[in-house]
Amino acid sequence: MSRKTRRQIILIIILIAAAAAAAMFLMHKIAEDRHIEGAESTAGEAESTSEEASEEAAQKQAEEEAREQERLNKIAEEKAQWYLILVNNQNAMPDDFDIETVEVEDGYYIDERVCDALQEMLADCRDAGYSPRLISTFRTRETQQYLYDHTANKSDTAVPGHSEHECGLAADIVDAGSLGWADPLIDEQEDMPAQKWLMEHCQDYGFILRYPKDKEDITEIIYEPWHYRYVGKEHAAVIQGNGICLEEYLENMQDYYQAQ
Ligand SMILES: [Zn+2]
Repeated sequence: MSRKTRRQIILIIILIAAAAAAAMFLMHKIAEDRHIEGAESTAGEAESTSEEASEEAAQKQAEEEAREQERLNKIAEEKAQWYLILVNNQNAMPDDFDIETVEVEDGYYIDERVCDALQEMLADCRDAGYSPRLISTFRTRETQQYLYDHTANKSDTAVPGHSEHECGLAADIVDAGSLGWADPLIDEQEDMPAQKWLMEHCQDYGFILRYPKDKEDITEIIYEPWHYRYVGKEHAAVIQGNGICLEEYLENMQDYYQAQ
C-alpha cells in the first residue's frame, strides 16, 4: 500500500467518524426538541383544562345567583299578596285595600276569599266534638274606633285603621263554654277545649294564632289565644311550625319560605 493510499484511507475514516458524530448530535438534538415540545403541549392542555374549570365555576355561580334572584323575586311577589298583608301599629291598612265581605254565620262577616276556610275550620272543630263560637270578625272603621275609644288598656285593641278585623282577614273565636265569663278574652281561653283544638289545627285551614305568647314586644298586642288571621295554608304551616309571629316571618321570609 502506497503512502498516498494509506493517507486516503485515514482521511475517509476521519470523515466517516465525523459524519457519525454529526449524525448522533443531530439525533440527540431532535429528541431533545421533541421532549420540550411534548412538555409544552402538556402544559398547554393543563392550562386550557383549568380555564375550562374556572369558566364552568363562573357559569355555575351565575346560574346560582340567577336562581337566588328568582327566588327573592318570588318572595317579593308573594309578600305583596293580599293574604300576607301586614297590618299593625306601624303599618296601616292601605286605603285601597279591596274587601268584599260575606256572612260566615250568625251575622258575622269576613272577606269572601277567607269564608270557606273559616267555615270548614269551624265545622271540623264541631265535628271533633267542640263548641267554637265567633265573637268578632269583620269590623268597620267605626266599630274599631268605638272599641278603641272604650278599651281601658290600649294594647288590647288595635288603633283604628291598623286592625286586621278591618281587613276582613281575622276572626276572634272562643269556646262557647267561656261565654258566661265576665270577659272571655283572657289568657285562660287557651285552656278551653275548642280553643285547644283551634290552636292545634288552625294552620291546616290557612290560619295562624296572630298574637302569640311571648311575642308582645314585636306585635305590640297582648297574647290573644282567640284571634286567628288568615295567611293561606302554605304560610300558616311555616309560621305556626316555627313558632314565630307574622312580623318575624315577613322580615326574614327568605330564611323560611321555600318558593315553589
Ligand atoms: Zn281579634
